Amino acid sequence: MKLNEFNNAFQTEQQCLAYIANLKENKCIRCFNFNLNTSDLKRMRCLKCNQTFSILTGTIFSRSQTSLTSWFYLIFRWINTKHGIPSTDIAKELGVTLKTAWRMTHKIRTRIAKQKPQFIVEGTVQIDEMYLSHMGFKKQGRSLVNKTLIVGIYQKTTNNLIVKVLKNAKSKNLLQFAKNHISSKCLVYNDGFSPFMYYFNFII
Ligand SMILES: [Zn+2]
Repeated sequence: MKLNEFNNAFQTEQQCLAYIANLKENKCIRCFNFNLNTSDLKRMRCLKCNQTFSILTGTIFSRSQTSLTSWFYLIFRWINTKHGIPSTDIAKELGVTLKTAWRMTHKIRTRIAKQKPQFIVEGTVQIDEMYLSHMGFKKQGRSLVNKTLIVGIYQKTTNNLIVKVLKNAKSKNLLQFAKNHISSKCLVYNDGFSPFMYYFNFII
């Protein structure tokens, strides 16, 4: 998105609110009912239990005194900058104090760090672990003496490969990596390592 397109799309608080509403699953924060009065997005009301809450509840914008247009602008700058933006620049550009600028960037950074990795959603994938030793790649046993354990997921249709170095071959670690990246709907090829087989649809 170019700057002029961004400026058009997010000129007003209402545009930003509508954008957030579109991304979020709008349900009551108390009873999880989807039937809401959403005429005021900052004060929505559950038609079942009468709870009122804002569309911003649970987001980094919740209880912030800074306008959403400023937040969105900062996120836009953030996405389009390779090496980060100094808080002093942010403070100047948004007309906020240095402390506020720092707090905003900190919130964005923390939220990005918390984000779950993307699934490989569809299709057939292959998962395998192997050991990198001084002699090159070796796949033998599951002990780690002078070897580095690498686990990789390969999606055949897109040619995507996700690789990670793991500290050890504990089932828990391997399975967690697999769960983070493979949807349970995928068809998975593997050499028959049982923790994977338990969780996914397998072809060995
Ligand atoms: Zn409710």
